[in-house]
Amino acid sequence: MNDPTARASFVSLLKSELQQQRVTPLILEYKSGDVIFAEGGPGDGLYAILDGLVRISAFVSQSSSHPLCEFASGDFFGEMSIINQVPRSASAIALRDSQLLFVSREQVMDLMERSPPLVFALLHAFSNRMRETNSNFVQTMLESERLSLLGSFARSIVHDLKNPLSIILLAGDAAASERASASLREQAKKRMHQQVERLTHMLNELLRVSEGSTQHSVEPVNFAAYIAEILDETREELASKNVRVEVQTAVPDLVFPLNSRRLNHVFFNLFGNAADIMPDGGVITIRFQQTEREIMTEVEDSGPGFPPGIVEKLFTPFFTHGKASGTGLGLSICKNITEDHGGRIWAKAEAGRGAIFCFTLSLGN
Ligand code: ADP
Repeated sequence: MNDPTARASFVSLLKSELQQQRVTPLILEYKSGDVIFAEGGPGDGLYAILDGLVRISAFVSQSSSHPLCEFASGDFFGEMSIINQVPRSASAIALRDSQLLFVSREQVMDLMERSPPLVFALLHAFSNRMRETNSNFVQTMLESERLSLLGSFARSIVHDLKNPLSIILLAGDAAASERASASLREQAKKRMHQQVERLTHMLNELLRVSEGSTQHSVEPVNFAAYIAEILDETREELASKNVRVEVQTAVPDLVFPLNSRRLNHVFFNLFGNAADIMPDGGVITIRFQQTEREIMTEVEDSGPGFPPGIVEKLFTPFFTHGKASGTGLGLSICKNITEDHGGRIWAKAEAGRGAIFCFTLSLGN
């Protein structure tokens, strides 16, 4: 993309036109650190570098300036403001002792009127610079988008850390009680292990996002046993919020490929959102439907359902509604995880019912 030859050929054509038209340009000498022109100054001509190195930078705030690019021997700069006749949009500073050729605006215009190839060479060099700028811009946007996604994901995880930590705290208290029976201690230990695993998984997911990884590994899992684990793991936490889960249909007793740790996130998120919307408690009903190729899980709560007009936006990253500390990432992550399992996720708003979420998982056949 970076094509110094287009710029060098403009400079050599400019020099030969200057000679042919007997125009004498100024030869200017700058010491390292000298300001050649300052942002906001008049755009009175362009510079070709005979020898040296020049940095172009622009102010991004009142006190800090940001380097935009550097030009070396054979390159040129300062053409933008002579074309538009506006003040300089950036400053130029010599990074080492430099010798420059200065051609005034009037001289450049005069030469261009006489020489179409010079106009073409300038356009060519200019469009190359635009391409370079576009590609740098896209790169910077991608980087900053990834950083902002990471930041929000970190926020959502920090928010989600509270639940496992409070379960560990409760289980620790129960196990440490003098009156705790051996079986209660055993149960508390199991809870702590489960929650530490959940925390580890959250941190691994954070690392996955930070590395931009799309890796998704699966292994054969018995779905009925998996659902029993999920219910066991979430029971206490939901009970502390007066929420209980009812399983309305038999859970398909099938073995198929899953990434159970990632899939946990879908259940935790749907259950967590349901508990959030039912601050006085309620019921979460789950149902399953099996076809030849997939299993559909339906999760319905006894809350107020969705406000009008939001169902279409629920799975869009950063969409949050009615929550003081919402990140709007939970459902978009659920979408990502179900799609990685060859499935889909959607929401249904039905009059007089709570929120209904459905998602499918491919049986992998
Ligand atoms: P967050 O919970 O951080 O806002 P989510 O992506 O998990 O992000 O959810 C997006 C939005 O969907 C929530 O802000 C909420 O308005 C809505 N929502 C999710 N689950 C339910 C539910 N069970 N009942 C009603 N609205 C819900």
